[in-house]
Amino acid sequence: MNLKKGDNVIVTTGKDRTKTGKVLVISKEDNRVTVEGINMFKKHKRPTKQGEKGQIVSIARPMAASNVMLLCPSCKVGRRVGHRTEGAKKVRYCKKCQVTI
Ligand SMILES: [Zn+2]
Repeated sequence: MNLKKGDNVIVTTGKDRTKTGKVLVISKEDNRVTVEGINMFKKHKRPTKQGEKGQIVSIARPMAASNVMLLCPSCKVGRRVGHRTEGAKKVRYCKKCQVTI
């Protein structure tokens, strides 16, 4: 996986296809990512105390990392990324426009 927390990604499959969001959580063990505003599901919260109202909360669920692509800040679309070394640092770059992401 070449994604990092805080990356802007675009969804490539499923009901949220073409939507973009920021990576919130990365789970390397099962290759899943949680993206802000993507793959939301509604959870019905029951009142736990007396007098409290039940409510519906929306939570972003983890999804397969293969369903998202890193968003190129220059192309503004999902692009395949490569790796290259710049000085002593390993960076990711857009394979299309060569911009460092
Ligand atoms: Zn690009």
